[in-house]
Amino acid sequence: MDTSETCPGCGGSFDVSDGPTHRYLGASPGCWAVYGEVLAKEYSDAAYYRVHRLTVDAYSAQHPVQRNILAGVQPRQSSRWPFI
Ligand SMILES: [Zn+2]
Repeated sequence: MDTSETCPGCGGSFDVSDGPTHRYLGASPGCWAVYGEVLAKEYSDAAYYRVHRLTVDAYSAQHPVQRNILAGVQPRQSSRWPFI
């Protein structure tokens, strides 16, 4: 049995997980979990605040919206901090 899976967004290999993922970004649960660890690090140290927006933008660009699951989901209108 495979213990890793390929994220459909970024193509990275992550541990198989049945955890949550974003509602419409095309990320695997394992990739989403790693991204959460990065965000937790950024939120825990003010020195990372200045790069947070770059982190979010880069992750979002690598995980395009999955149009097949987009029906009924309204994109966020706000870009205020915190960007999640
Ligand atoms: Zn990914």
